[in-house]
Amino acid sequence: MKPNRVAVIGGGIGGLTAAGVLARKGHAVTLFEATDSLGGKAQTVRADGLVFDTGPTVMTMPDTVRATFAAVGAEASMPRLERLALQTHYRWADGREFLCWEDVERASASAAAVHAADGQRLAAFFAEADTIYRAAGRPYLEAPYETMMGFMARAAKSGLGTLLTGLKLSTLDGLARRHFESAHLRQFVGRFATYAGASPYESSAAFAMIAHIERAFGVHHVIGGLGSLVDGLEAAARRNGVDVVLGQRARHEARGDGFVVGEREFDAVVVNADPLASQAREDEPLTMSGYVAMFDVPARLALPHHTILFSQDYRKEFDELSAGRLSEDLTVHVCHPAATDPTMAPPGRSGLYVMVNVPPMRVGDEGAWAGHARALETRLRAKLATLPGLSGVPLRLVAERTPVDLAKKGAPRGSIYGFLPHGRFGPFRRPAIRGRQRGVFFAGGGTHPGGGVPLVMLSGRFAAELTHAHLGGQA
Ligand SMILES: Cc1cc2nc3c(=O)[nH]c(=O)nc-3n(C[C@H](O)[C@H](O)[C@H](O)COP(=O)(O)OP(=O)(O)OC[C@H]3O[C@@H](n4cnc5c(N)ncnc54)[C@H](O)[C@@H]3O)c2cc1C
Repeated sequence: MKPNRVAVIGGGIGGLTAAGVLARKGHAVTLFEATDSLGGKAQTVRADGLVFDTGPTVMTMPDTVRATFAAVGAEASMPRLERLALQTHYRWADGREFLCWEDVERASASAAAVHAADGQRLAAFFAEADTIYRAAGRPYLEAPYETMMGFMARAAKSGLGTLLTGLKLSTLDGLARRHFESAHLRQFVGRFATYAGASPYESSAAFAMIAHIERAFGVHHVIGGLGSLVDGLEAAARRNGVDVVLGQRARHEARGDGFVVGEREFDAVVVNADPLASQAREDEPLTMSGYVAMFDVPARLALPHHTILFSQDYRKEFDELSAGRLSEDLTVHVCHPAATDPTMAPPGRSGLYVMVNVPPMRVGDEGAWAGHARALETRLRAKLATLPGLSGVPLRLVAERTPVDLAKKGAPRGSIYGFLPHGRFGPFRRPAIRGRQRGVFFAGGGTHPGGGVPLVMLSGRFAAELTHAHLGGQA
């Protein structure tokens, strides 16, 4: 029997996963990638002996990564993940610090130094995050989201009803206020909304489940950088027979019972480009964009792997971002991978990945961005100088990734996660994996279950399952 022909449009992690799984199931898969390399937002670059991830740096849900490598037949070649005991070091301008250890007792002791009573409440917050994960998160992640009814049937078994009535599921900020008195610990909770590119003041308390996911499954670093995950998925896809076409921006058109992409005919299509971009819905509200600066430091720093330098007024920062303005006082994520992985920097040096959220921007906005860029660099350098060992140390900017760079890669207006999941039921309004057009499926951060590397891998696997079933295959 002739194999079914499947086109995968986009070679990000979602597209690579879907392509690898479908080819392993015996379909003839062609993957079209507009740029000259695979991985999309997940890239690792080398500059003067330093290695930098330019997009994702925080990895969690290692079992999902393992299951994805198994699904493409490459479990043995999965890159090594290193679990961080100190997950994140949070710092404030008033000198307070919260060391969020994976170990809750240790983390609670550190939180108590920020605010004595809040330190004692940390364990209760994590317990509620665990309840939210079990009741809503697990059923949301275990199968493709097709209808609210289907989800509710799964969630009913895990106690979502009790959760909704008993836990006053509000905004994430509302939940933070119920647990903590200090603005500091509330900010710690609120930041989990930004893992989906959202604001804690507008998004569901369900995002607290990310705090549980980090606690229960760990925060990991991919040894050698995240690019090695992409390399592993690419090698598996090619071994499974995927025909990879680089440098071709593709569009599918329905023809007869199938589709054409360029001149080639296909029976089904998996779109890894953002659903809002591919449905010309870029004017809808979008998640935040991001700017990343990569610095070469002429000394090996004693900084931990992840540091967050919080802004002083979190609400003002989000209000300004949602009004399309760059805040004067930004929350900054500093990643120092050499703290864990000596392959990321030569002895006596450190590379710093410095990331801030910024408003979305369009291709063509280079001029507007250039206006922001130098002011932003000055602000970032001033903020970095507050870190131990960095005052007076010359930092050389070696590379950067702007919102316009993201937009050029097909991210709608440079938004990191596309669809904005604000509102209590925000996550359920995402564009679904099964497209409206028969035989078209979506994979990637803009569809279910959402952005972030492990979720995108899940989405690639779900898209492959639905495509395989559509083509008459057995699970
Ligand atoms: C700065 C930054 C920090 C991040 N931090 C984290 C983190 O710490 N942890 C985490 O888990 N996640 C993080 N993420 C998110 C994570 O990187 C993404 O959710 C994930 O990589 C998206 O994968 P995707 O499959 O949606 O594809 P994308 O990465 O969006 O790739 C899509 C691909 O499709 C291609 N394409 C688009 N249109 C077409 C077309 N018409 N024809 C052919 N090709 C096309 C593009 O060129 C691109 O290569 C971060 C992202 C960024 C930008």
